[in-house]
Amino acid sequence: MVYELQRTTVDWEYHTERTRRHSLSSVNGVSWPRGLVLRGSGTINGMKYIRGNRRDYDRWKLLGNDGWGWDEVLEYFKKSEDNKVKRLANGKWHSTGGYLSVDYYDDSDPMNRVLTDAADEMGFQELADLNSDEYVGYGRSQFTIANGTRCSPAKAFLSTIQHRKNLHVIKHAFVTTVSFEGNGTAVRGVNFILRNRFSMRALARKEVIISAGAVNTPKLLMLSGIGRRSAIAPVGISQRADLDVGENLQDHVAIPLFFKFNRSSRGIVNLTLEKILNLFIFTLKNRQQPLTNHYVSSVIAFVNTVSSDDPFPDVQFEYTQFKKGGSSSIIVTRAMGYNEQIVQSVHKAELEADVVMARIHVLNPESRGKIRLASNDPYVDPIIDSGYLNDYEDLKTLVRAIRIQTQMLSTDSFRRNEAELHRLPIPACRFILYDTDEYWECYVRHLTTTLYHPSGTTKMGPDSDPGAVVDSRLKVKQVENLRVIDASIMPFIVSGNTNAPTIMIGERGADFIKQDYEL
Ligand SMILES: Cc1cc2nc3c(=O)[nH]c(=O)nc-3n(C[C@H](O)[C@H](O)[C@H](O)COP(=O)(O)OP(=O)(O)OC[C@H]3O[C@@H](n4cnc5c(N)ncnc54)[C@H](O)[C@@H]3O)c2cc1C
Repeated sequence: MVYELQRTTVDWEYHTERTRRHSLSSVNGVSWPRGLVLRGSGTINGMKYIRGNRRDYDRWKLLGNDGWGWDEVLEYFKKSEDNKVKRLANGKWHSTGGYLSVDYYDDSDPMNRVLTDAADEMGFQELADLNSDEYVGYGRSQFTIANGTRCSPAKAFLSTIQHRKNLHVIKHAFVTTVSFEGNGTAVRGVNFILRNRFSMRALARKEVIISAGAVNTPKLLMLSGIGRRSAIAPVGISQRADLDVGENLQDHVAIPLFFKFNRSSRGIVNLTLEKILNLFIFTLKNRQQPLTNHYVSSVIAFVNTVSSDDPFPDVQFEYTQFKKGGSSSIIVTRAMGYNEQIVQSVHKAELEADVVMARIHVLNPESRGKIRLASNDPYVDPIIDSGYLNDYEDLKTLVRAIRIQTQMLSTDSFRRNEAELHRLPIPACRFILYDTDEYWECYVRHLTTTLYHPSGTTKMGPDSDPGAVVDSRLKVKQVENLRVIDASIMPFIVSGNTNAPTIMIGERGADFIKQDYEL
């Protein structure tokens, strides 16, 4: 059979109906539009603390964004950090005393050893710190955790200053539009709806900062008349500024592989008893694992699929473990948006053996999507045209990465544990010879999902860049008194998880404001 390259992006046949319709917002079950007027608590995420690499930020600077090179942003990463790892804390790359607690998880689970031994055998370099100046290899991720539990941006940055007189947080406030001075371009404040009932307006003495994330920030700007005429006129919004809002959407797609380890680390266990024991360990002993473990392994590998000599990776491998006899795979695969056929297949494997889900991400995707308005009603979700895999290079990168990941099956570490690849039922690929490149292309097209790293939709750039929405001080162009400070300003998505970079953007933005108003 000749495999035909399709212009389609991802075929959502094996995902749930909701995921198909709304590929991003459905899967984590978050109702995106609800939040705070000031920056909300942010997303409940996997807590991995990864910064990306020097090339990412130096590229931002090369585009004409002064002050955003690696050496400059490093200081802002360190500014928020309270690194609890003694070995790293006061070295060149880390610091202590910031609001954001960063630490390692306990990684005593034997499966981590199986993975790191396999990585070793494959010739990957062990990295002592995934946030330093060596970028290709494997190592332990740090997490944004404090005393064994989540250290969210809300906990780190808001709760610590909640009693300040000049901070007022309004909960259950849904911002609908930015409000302007008359018909002009000077921003006055924001319009919002409180508790789904009361229409209100907050006025700004100096300026308004939008931090609604890469989906809702462009939505909010477009609802306020900031966007291309072709994007806002069809839903009846008149234009105030002609900017490329909502374009340049980038994300890290993820493709899972499921490995069954038939020589299990344990037999079928009594899960209820185990939970009680875990609760005992957490409350009475040390607030540590296993209760605080979310089964996402701290082992991460950054790999270049084209050349092992390249100092920068093009893919990232992450691992999640489902213990034999458990049911956590059901929660995870459903949350990833897969239909019951896939969910039950993985669960069957979990009942029979320990299962490790390896997730592979394309770090520097060529594909671009966009956020569009579906309506001028702020309560209507925007359309997320994810654009996943619309550039064939991304698909080829994933297939190369699958080849590398599956080589682990030949390592002694995997063999000793009788590892095998769990083959998922994908009728759409059944006429393609298993384990050929064509097969994996088909697999990728049907099982690709997201790592939830949307970025880039209000791109930062100089005036010479027609796609730029904010300048290098994060001010929205063509209007006054408005800034965007969140993941949407990234001109190119970074080579790693996006939370730490977004917090760095927050630190950077805070300094711009202090400088501009001499605070
Ligand atoms: C399931 C999941 C797991 C992840 N795991 C990791 C990880 O392990 N490590 C990592 O580095 N990154 C991870 N990420 C990505 C990371 O969380 C995001 O990159 C980061 O949160 C982006 O920050 P942001 O400020 O741009 O947007 P958000 O965190 O989405 O914050 C936007 C805020 O604005 C509020 N808001 C939106 N619209 C309105 C409105 N109209 N009115 C009022 N408020 C509004 C929202 O409620 C939200 O609180 C994960 C994401 C998800 C979804």
